Amino acid sequence: MDTQMLIGSRFEAGTETEELVLNPKTGETVVKLPEASIAQIDAAVDAAEAAFKSWSQTTPGQRSAYLLKIADAIERDAEAFAALEALNCGKPINAVLNDEIPAIVDCYRFFAGAVRNLHAPVAGEYLPGHTSMVRRDPIGIIGSIAPWNYPLMMMAWKLAPAIGGGNTVVFKPSEQTPLTALKMAKLMAEILPEGVVNLVLGRGESCGNALINHPKINMVSITGDIATGKKVLAAAAKSVKRTHLELGGKAPVIIFDDADIDAVVAGIRTFGYYNAGQDCTAACRIYADAKIYDRFVADLTSAVSTLRFNLADDTENEIGPLISKRQRDRVESFVTRAAEHKHMEITTGGKVSGDRGFFFAPTVIAGATQEDEIVRREVFGPVVSVTRFTDVEDAVNWANDSDYGLASSVWTKDIGRGMQAAARLQYGCTWINTHFMLANEMPHGGVKQSGYGKDMSIYALEDYTAVRHIMINHG
Ligand code: NAD
Repeated sequence: MDTQMLIGSRFEAGTETEELVLNPKTGETVVKLPEASIAQIDAAVDAAEAAFKSWSQTTPGQRSAYLLKIADAIERDAEAFAALEALNCGKPINAVLNDEIPAIVDCYRFFAGAVRNLHAPVAGEYLPGHTSMVRRDPIGIIGSIAPWNYPLMMMAWKLAPAIGGGNTVVFKPSEQTPLTALKMAKLMAEILPEGVVNLVLGRGESCGNALINHPKINMVSITGDIATGKKVLAAAAKSVKRTHLELGGKAPVIIFDDADIDAVVAGIRTFGYYNAGQDCTAACRIYADAKIYDRFVADLTSAVSTLRFNLADDTENEIGPLISKRQRDRVESFVTRAAEHKHMEITTGGKVSGDRGFFFAPTVIAGATQEDEIVRREVFGPVVSVTRFTDVEDAVNWANDSDYGLASSVWTKDIGRGMQAAARLQYGCTWINTHFMLANEMPHGGVKQSGYGKDMSIYALEDYTAVRHIMINHG
């Protein structure tokens, strides 16, 4: 197992407090990893600064070739990466191997193509006697900070457009899930020139805080909680750093009376509980038309009660545990508070599961209303609430009545109705008759307090590059 940070071309251990990395299926310690010191973080930033001079001068074609090599190497080591991610996050091995790894490999390949294909207004004489052209240049040193729910994928979403755009990076994985990032550091050191990607370990309040306040870091990219995003913004204000924020979500799902209920139930069983609901786009806040509400709740309840988890044969598991005891306790407390209200009913799940690890039974809470905490706050666990509506106007207004604005979905056989609702939903993404499906060619990112950074797609490459105008006076 790779355990050392990458600073320039040096692999070294942190020198500060040890953080425990746990196996969420058992609660046992996998490894103890010391945090980076301030001097080590400074050295990583210095290495990124030194590398920027030549990396920023490489051609798109050269950077594309590096990205393709990274993609090939991940594909070659797919099983080892999947095993490590499954160990560190408790994810079912098949989910990592068959869903996540191919999307991660494709992310590097997408940006390998995209970086050679940026567009802008054509060069020309927009003032007489002067030729103008637009450039897209790298921003500089990016401090990238990732969450624990999809460690390797978040790393891909952040690194591929950043280095593809000609920047250099100091990357900090979540202190809870650094294992695949450490393996990636090894692979990056074999493929990339020294200092293009550096990796430091540590907690948010120490290592993360040092990165977001570092005077030499030009842009901070973070995926995490809204509260963390606000700290990044406050730090960025001091030196007017660029920021790329991907914060949480509380995805509404509107089910019209003409929807194909079997398809919706199958969809929510998958998209509400994937990764044990630790997903910022999880289909967790359902508004169901009163005409189909009872049948929907009954069918969803039986479907969710068949979700397979915590089985000895991991290839049988559909979902894993929560990432930590703290996260499981948090999920449990949301459900306990909901259960105290008479108008809500826990129709399946609702409790901690197993005597070891951090499992929580997949849960459906019926009868929730718009003002309930379970409808308003991000739970980030395998918990879906269902709210009844009689007027579509209410459903759309309730869906929009949220601080979050990442993802949403609408289920109906009437495509016109679906399009009307989609046009009114204030979310970075609205799916019609599906949920959660991502494509590397399409942007992923929020509005409102879900943040404004776009991952994947050409828009991410735009976020990680600066538009510049060059004008030549013909004299
Ligand atoms: P978190 O905000 O606690 O941590 C995210 C990262 O930020 C970690 O690496 C952490 O160490 C670091 N961090 C924490 N405090 C910091 C500080 N003061 N300064 C600098 N860095 C700091 O979030 P989490 O618990 O790891 O992840 C779950 C959250 O991420 C959820 O809210 C989820 O919705 C969100 N998320 C959003 C998206 C998206 O695309 N919008 C994707 C995945 C997760």
